[in-house]
Amino acid sequence: MASEPSVNVPPASPSPPAEAPVEKLFSELRAKVGEVRPRDDLAPIEKAFRFSSEHHKLQTRDSGEPYMVHPLMVAHFLADMRMDLVTIETGLLHDVVEDTIVTVEDIRKNFGEDVARCVDGVTKLSKLDFFSAEERQAESFRKMLLAMVNDIRVIIVKLADRLHNMRTLAFIQEPERRERIARETIEIYGPIAHRLGMGKIRGELEDLAFRYIDAAAWEEITRSLESGRHANEEFLTRIRQMIEAELRREGIPARVEGRLKRAYSIYQKMKRQKILIEQVYDLAAIRIITDSVKNCYAALGVIHNEWRPVPGRIKDFIAIPRPNLYQSLHTSVVGPEGRHFEVQIRTEEMHRVAEEGIAAHWKYKEGKKGPADDDQRIAWLRHLVEWQRDVQDPGEFMSTLRVDLYPEEVYTFTPRGKVIVLPRDATPIDFAYAIHSDVGQACVGAKVNSRIVPLRYTLKNGDIVEILTQPGHQPSKDWLAVVKTPRARNKIKHVINANERTKAIEIGQKYLEKEARRLGVQLSKVQRSDLEKAAADYGVGKIEDLYAALGYGKFSARQALQKMAPQQFKEEQMELPKAVPEPVPGGGAPPAHHDGDAVIKVKGVDDLLVYRAKCCNPIRGEAIVGYVTRGKGIAVHSKMCPNVQNLLYDVERKIEVEWARNTADAFPVKIVVHTDDRPGLLAQITSVVSAENTNIRSLEARTEGNAADGALVEMTVDIRDKKQLEKLVAAMRRISGIRDVERLLN
Ligand code: MN
Repeated sequence: MASEPSVNVPPASPSPPAEAPVEKLFSELRAKVGEVRPRDDLAPIEKAFRFSSEHHKLQTRDSGEPYMVHPLMVAHFLADMRMDLVTIETGLLHDVVEDTIVTVEDIRKNFGEDVARCVDGVTKLSKLDFFSAEERQAESFRKMLLAMVNDIRVIIVKLADRLHNMRTLAFIQEPERRERIARETIEIYGPIAHRLGMGKIRGELEDLAFRYIDAAAWEEITRSLESGRHANEEFLTRIRQMIEAELRREGIPARVEGRLKRAYSIYQKMKRQKILIEQVYDLAAIRIITDSVKNCYAALGVIHNEWRPVPGRIKDFIAIPRPNLYQSLHTSVVGPEGRHFEVQIRTEEMHRVAEEGIAAHWKYKEGKKGPADDDQRIAWLRHLVEWQRDVQDPGEFMSTLRVDLYPEEVYTFTPRGKVIVLPRDATPIDFAYAIHSDVGQACVGAKVNSRIVPLRYTLKNGDIVEILTQPGHQPSKDWLAVVKTPRARNKIKHVINANERTKAIEIGQKYLEKEARRLGVQLSKVQRSDLEKAAADYGVGKIEDLYAALGYGKFSARQALQKMAPQQFKEEQMELPKAVPEPVPGGGAPPAHHDGDAVIKVKGVDDLLVYRAKCCNPIRGEAIVGYVTRGKGIAVHSKMCPNVQNLLYDVERKIEVEWARNTADAFPVKIVVHTDDRPGLLAQITSVVSAENTNIRSLEARTEGNAADGALVEMTVDIRDKKQLEKLVAAMRRISGIRDVERLLN
């Protein structure tokens, strides 16, 4: 991406000031705040400083400095962003509840409701663990989202806190802790700062974290930037002067800045395009800041008049701002000596928004509470919070959150010209739901640029999309496999789950009645409290939930009856042969219950039909997950199966399964070997397979077109577990002339 501001490479290890600089830092802070907010009474800041100093006075940082330096630096960053007094007080006090005996109640008494709420929020954020088990991780994100919606200043203070901690990260002794903090910074706080449009802090956080994430790459890039610095700076100075002269001649007032791209954004580009540092040709970038939108376009004309633009690299984010409200014109041109460089053009106001994002709202606008609720960046947060309520499965929550935190966007339009920004690969269905959930629900077709397209069509930049609706239409389950936005996914799931659940409750109830009749259990004699107890035994909340679980086939009705009416269950019933299910009157097929695939067990239940899903053909040792299919038992998928994510739209039907111990059954597994086309290779392959004690069921070899393309060997082998397969594949890969070995999933 081209929008990042430049940040210089951070110093290897910051050196602490010789003497305690606390009082000095405070008087500088007061002066800074007083300058921006001449009319504000600064007494609360003084009070917060004294209070915090008193409580932190015996503590020191890892750097050996007095602890108070840290809250003061955080308050300085916030003052630089021109945040309001509440935020600066929070900055000064943000660690007292966490690290001293002070309580939130004490803060409330001394500093009022707003500061107390913010300090409480920051304290809670510090306790979150973003890398724990999936459930706890999802819970952490939920809590963070709620804290952010509650008061966006909480996350701004947290980002300032993280910035100072990153600048002083070198003082932390344990490498694991350093790496963990750096990873959290890059994976969580960077993307959040980006979403809130805070480009400056995001850039610095990423560059500071980068060296701890991939030290070798950081060193390589830093060294390369350093060795080329002199030449690059000369180049930048030269083109900057040329541009300044041209703009002057055209009467366009402008500030021209030259910079080198940030280390972390170079790293991302290298990774994305799989290229070496030498191949990153546009390290140099120019930024033109002018006075009006009109002059932005005029400046673009000047640049293109001087140098040839690289096709496909001109982007107009002024006409169509990014969702985080970023605006600029971008272009890449072929400069002197054929060297490419990038140019960003924007107004002062756009520049401020690009650097400070949501924090820009507190600037100059005294008495204002911050951004309005309809600010897109706040709206984004509210959406996140809205859909996170519906998502029960932590795994799904995390994967959808990732889509939202790291979006790559396409810009599409309604027929009236309204811009709808969607993640990459979004479909007309996503578009429909983005307009309104009613439009999504009733969507039956779509026109893109006036032509009918299938609903799974992938939207492109600039597409004009018209949604065809039909009142009363219901979303289809297949949509889940194609939609890309969390919003659409959750709305669709909601409707489908509600429908399926109603059906399942009905079927479950009938299934229970039928089984009761067959076993001679009188349901009418079963007390409601016994039903509730049985439901609780299964860990479901209400009787209805139990019916639904029975209807989905998650539990057997016979077992449930045993729990509900143990006194009616006679000895001989217990020893009846396994029940053969019969069709349930008026409903779908009842769930299947028998031994099934004995190599897989459902945790806690032992008479459900279990089978391995054909789409991924899981083998022993792989992580697996069960999905209850109505009437057909439990399909077991590999957790890596691409279908799983789409299939498991219904958490209620997910079930824990495990590989049974001590069975030696083998499963057929298909393998494809890509080889050079030379004689003797096939014999070598088969001898390696038999050396690994593996049985070959079938084998087929063929050449691919001409000899240079090589040959393909496709075979089915009997595999007991993941280990055996891995050993076999490794052994085959060691044969010279083998290009690649793949496992076919079906
Ligand atoms: Mn802190």
